[in-house]
Amino acid sequence: MGGLGPDEQEVLRRWKSIKHIHAFLTREFNLLNRLCFENRLSLTAFSLPPMRLSRRPLENHLGAAFYRPAHRDCPAEIGIFPHLLLNREETRIALAHEMAHHWEWSLPEEKDTESVSMEVERLLKENLQDPRQAEGFRRHHSPRFLGKIQEVAQSLHIPVGKFLFKL
Ligand SMILES: [Zn+2]
Repeated sequence: MGGLGPDEQEVLRRWKSIKHIHAFLTREFNLLNRLCFENRLSLTAFSLPPMRLSRRPLENHLGAAFYRPAHRDCPAEIGIFPHLLLNREETRIALAHEMAHHWEWSLPEEKDTESVSMEVERLLKENLQDPRQAEGFRRHHSPRFLGKIQEVAQSLHIPVGKFLFKL
């Protein structure tokens, strides 16, 4: 296990094998797909990138996982930084966030555009006070995405802020 940091070693100790982690992520994906996305999403590939590749602080959900849309022969992919797997609820929240990106990329826009609630607007203002950070966040999180994440939060009975930043 050369090259693994302490958190990664702990993740493997807990989960025993990468196969178990993949099975867990697939189960969670299928469950969230039914609960929040009308079962319309196609399963993505999963990857567990080494944590040293995370460019953002890991305490923040924005640095905990990522989504990469399908490209040529490569299927869409959700990457989960391994430290997240030490907490099942955090994993579910991050997975739901990335699935909302997958939903936005892979399903065509329907006629009603989602509207962003006052609560989400307030959370964005409070948490993204640095204008550059705010601009970066909004570039990657459209009103359509934000509208969807509100619905996801509601159906899982988890405060929406947890899907955007760790509060
Ligand atoms: Zn995102």
